[in-house]
Amino acid sequence: MHHSRPVPVPVLMYHVISPAPSVAPYPQLFVPPREFDAQMRWLARHGYHAITLRRAYDNWTEGSPVPARPIVISFDDGYLSQYTRAFPELRALHWPGVLNLEVNFLQPVGGMRPWRVRKLIAARWEIDAHTLTHPDLTRVDDARLWSEVDGSRRALRHDFHVPVDFFCYPSGRYDDRVVAAVRRAGFLGATTTMFGLARPPDFFRLDRVEIDGSDRVRGLAAKLRKLTASAY
Ligand SMILES: [Zn+2]
Repeated sequence: MHHSRPVPVPVLMYHVISPAPSVAPYPQLFVPPREFDAQMRWLARHGYHAITLRRAYDNWTEGSPVPARPIVISFDDGYLSQYTRAFPELRALHWPGVLNLEVNFLQPVGGMRPWRVRKLIAARWEIDAHTLTHPDLTRVDDARLWSEVDGSRRALRHDFHVPVDFFCYPSGRYDDRVVAAVRRAGFLGATTTMFGLARPPDFFRLDRVEIDGSDRVRGLAAKLRKLTASAY
């Protein structure tokens, strides 16, 4: 049950938890709520326990214990359906999620809204930064890079009084200059869109596992099997 060695952790990546509309430009970003619920139930039945990135980080750096089969369930951007559809399912399992919140998504219409974020925080969700406006950070100038990285952390800390210790690169785009800015802004680590397990020692290039609308339970299980086969 208790590990003192560093445990590699799968970090699942979700976007919209809703059936894909027929004209969606990126239909793979949509996971129907029924599929999401089935995936969470499958994880629970197979002994997985959702944790926050912070808890994984504390295991990696201090050897603090994590539950058996730890997994991070992360949600990008801040779509309303993450609150209305994913949150109830995770709450039923007493599992925290990790929200990579783009500050722009706190908008009045169709977004997450601050009161919803506060409900997630009350349910032990972790709120991480995902910039102000979701640019390709490798293509913006230094001033814009800093305001997107440091400014998003400041805004979320100010609004929600939570640490905001981790960053998520928009569209998985980063380079050495971007990583340096993320470090300088005080983040402890950052997640990418590369397929793999999150693990030490490079906390600023933490791999994830993208789950899309075609995966269903079978695809999720196959991806996890592939990762754990190569983990040790
Ligand atoms: Zn994003």
